[in-house]
Parts: sequence; C-alpha cells; structure tokens
Amino acid sequence: MVAEWLQKLLILQDRDSSCDGIKQQLARIPDQIAAEEANIREIAEALKEKENAMKHLEVKRLDIEGEVEQTEATIIKYKTQQMQVKKNEEYTALENEIKNLQAKISEMEDEELLLLEEIDQRSVILNRDRDSITSQKHTLEAHIELLKKNYAASQSELEAAKGAVVECGQELDAGVLQQYQYVKSQVKRPPVVVPLVENKCQGCHLKVSGEVETDVRRGRELTRCDSCGRILYYDR
Ligand SMILES: [Zn+2]
Repeated sequence: MVAEWLQKLLILQDRDSSCDGIKQQLARIPDQIAAEEANIREIAEALKEKENAMKHLEVKRLDIEGEVEQTEATIIKYKTQQMQVKKNEEYTALENEIKNLQAKISEMEDEELLLLEEIDQRSVILNRDRDSITSQKHTLEAHIELLKKNYAASQSELEAAKGAVVECGQELDAGVLQQYQYVKSQVKRPPVVVPLVENKCQGCHLKVSGEVETDVRRGRELTRCDSCGRILYYDR
C-alpha cells in the first residue's frame, strides 16, 4: 500500500509532466511556422528567378527585332544613295554593303527563331512550375493554419493542465510540494519521483545507501536518492 502523500505526489508528477509536454509542444510550433514560411518564400523566389530568366529572353528577342528594323532602314538608305551615285565603284561598294547587311539580317532572324523556340519550350515549363508552386504554396499555407490552430488549442490545454497541477499541489503537504519543486529545479531531466528497484534509484541507476533504502522501504517520509537527489519510493 503506497502512502497517501506518495500517491498524491505521483499524481502531481504525472500532471506536471503533461504540463511540460504541452509547453514543449508549444515552444516548437513558432519554429515550425517560421520554417514553413521560409519554404514559401524559397519557392516564390525560385519561381521569380525562372520568370526573370524568361523576361531576359523576351528582352533579347526584342533587341534582335529592333536591330533587324534598324538594319533594314540602313539598307533602304543605301539603296536610295545607290540611285544618286555617279561612279560605278561607289555603286558596287554600296551593293556590297547592302549584301553584308542582308546576310546580317538573315543571321539575326535565325537567332530570333531559335530564341522563339526556347521561349516556347520554357513557357510550357514555366506554366507547369507555376501550377506546381501554387499547389505547394497552398499545402504549406494549410499546414501553417493547422499549426496556428494547434498552438491555440495547446494554449488552452496548457491552461487546463496548469490548473490541474495547482489543484493537485493544494492537496499535498506544503513541505512535500516544496521539496518536489526544489528537486525538479535541480535534476537535469524528469522524472523527479522514481521507484527504488533492487536498491537502485531508477533516476540515476545507482545503488543507494542502506540507510536510504530502509527509509524508502518504510515509506513514512519523503526520502531522496543520495546520488542524484530524486525523491524515491518503494514500489511493492
Ligand atoms: Zn538517483
């Protein structure tokens, strides 16, 4: 038969540990939200980069078109000059210039055609990327919403759990409660109240002294492990 104070203490520990669990859960959520927000930014930036690359190709294509127009204007100008020149060699020189410019135009048009093909292919991929990013973004946003809801739910859960701990603490002897809180602040990790099994503290797994063992077996008062300081009880 476990002493009444010990029963109450174990209940307190149990409630306290649920309280700590909720606190840990709460502490993790803001980081999880921040991570998902970072993911959203990352995919949006990746899409922006692809869109910029596409814009760059469009600009390049417009540049080529502009240059073709300019070159065509120059050809017209040379043709007009040709009609005005008197000397044969001047006429031939202009004729050669015009031929050079026409060859240049043909090269530029080839380049523009290749560019157009690239733009077409890329725009198919870009549209696909946009769809996929939109759906990824929705998934991430839904997860953020869920995390926010969980946060709010955990907060009310924590309030209730805290209340349960206080309620349980009130049932305990003030001295016992104080010792529990002190030991909790001293040990590296829970639990605070542990059983003694085969003379070994189940917190630090070290053997306790004969005196401690006797006191724990008697179970009349709160006894602590002489190695780690945890509160011990004899589980019979
Ligand atoms: Zn110990």
